[in-house]
Amino acid sequence: QTRRKNLDRYIATQLPPRVRTLLQQLGTVADQSGVRAYLVGGFVRDLLLRQKNLDVDVVIEGDGIAFAKAFAAKASCRIRAHDKFGTAVIIFPDGFKVDVASARIEYYDRPATLPQVEDASIRHDLYRRDFTINTLTVALNADHFGVVLDFYGGQRDLRDKSIRVLHNLSFIEDPTRLYRAVRFEQRLNFHIGRQTERLMHSAVELKMVRKVGGVRILNELKHILSEAQIVPALERLNQFGLLQIIDPRIVFDADTKKLFKAAEQAISWYELLYTGMPCRRWLVFLTCLLDRLPVSGLRKVGRWFALRLDEKAVIVDELPQIIRLHRKMSRLLRRQHQPANSELYHWFSSFAIESLIYQMARTEQERGRQWISRYVTDLRREQVIIDGHDLVRLGLTPGPEFQTIFRHLLAGRLDGLITTRADEIDWVRQHVLSADRQSDHNTSVDPKPQV
Ligand code: ATP
Repeated sequence: QTRRKNLDRYIATQLPPRVRTLLQQLGTVADQSGVRAYLVGGFVRDLLLRQKNLDVDVVIEGDGIAFAKAFAAKASCRIRAHDKFGTAVIIFPDGFKVDVASARIEYYDRPATLPQVEDASIRHDLYRRDFTINTLTVALNADHFGVVLDFYGGQRDLRDKSIRVLHNLSFIEDPTRLYRAVRFEQRLNFHIGRQTERLMHSAVELKMVRKVGGVRILNELKHILSEAQIVPALERLNQFGLLQIIDPRIVFDADTKKLFKAAEQAISWYELLYTGMPCRRWLVFLTCLLDRLPVSGLRKVGRWFALRLDEKAVIVDELPQIIRLHRKMSRLLRRQHQPANSELYHWFSSFAIESLIYQMARTEQERGRQWISRYVTDLRREQVIIDGHDLVRLGLTPGPEFQTIFRHLLAGRLDGLITTRADEIDWVRQHVLSADRQSDHNTSVDPKPQV
């Protein structure tokens, strides 16, 4: 059953003029190509919720790629087509993109009869979507421009603020939807419908998630960890047992919540520094989530998620190290130790920023947090001025000792013993060249200060 609401007014009042024009152009090209075009997905949902969303997704009843080509020819855009999936992306000169898909055409063969029955319908296509609120569609052809097609009760569920699947096998068919349900529920401030919740529990019991590749689960998790409200979403995943599916030892208790709150603050602090080096929020939160796992568990999760090398370095290699450093820092804080800058550098410089932000979140003592912040805001950027050529000009032979010399120069600079280029050269003259003369060795460096 379809309800015929018309979104003309929404389109005219809520969308930027450019998007309005784009929708009309898509309709015109569809008319000229003899196909029907529909706006689908999050764009329609958010238009009805009056929330900003400029991800334009279009489904064509017919050949989406041919449509994209026709559109691109008229509007001087490029396209990128994926023949295998019948999808294309229209790319405008300024980078704005429109996704185009083809409504799957299904052929029902009747034995010994010609021709085949072709049912290229948007309705069938939408049946594969995750939740009713994502099945809402707006027609773009001129004769129906702006008309909402609601085959599965999406408008009712938007009104009731409820997340419902279309059929009972939805989570079995695609268990990533378990995570998506929680994401939409939390993001939109909706609730998961009762039957849908029951279906989620049974899909979890059946361990369906382990049958999907970890890559797709990580992808959904990344989305959740990038949302504005993370703790409530994780609490919900925890209630459904969706965290323990990643590893049964994951605990989401009051301490974890506190850590997540602290991590949110640490990330905000870092982002306000505008260092030009973004931090991967999701990776900080993933670190928080996995920090009670033994190394073998971290390795297993890393493999299942197929983390990239740099991500794996943070989770599998750095996490155990930074936990050890945390213990050491706690001891030193108790003893009122005052580390020199070069010592802070020595502690922190091998870690990725995500590990340091995690450390910031874990450290409860203000003084300890200052150590990390001093490193991140200042020390990290310190550099020695002279280079290898200068050392050669001073009469030294290139070799591994150069590294040691630079380390010492940096330590001196961090601790305020060296400031100018001339200071550096003096230091080399005094500590390397004169030591050389004395010991007759190639280079021996006065072992202080250490970095
Ligand atoms: P967001 O605003 O976060 O991008 P969205 O609704 O646009 O939310 P996407 O993840 O970009 O969500 O997906 C686009 C559309 O594709 C969704 O509206 C949904 O209908 C459909 N979709 C995505 N993933 C699935 C899935 N696993 N199963 C069924 N439908 C899906």
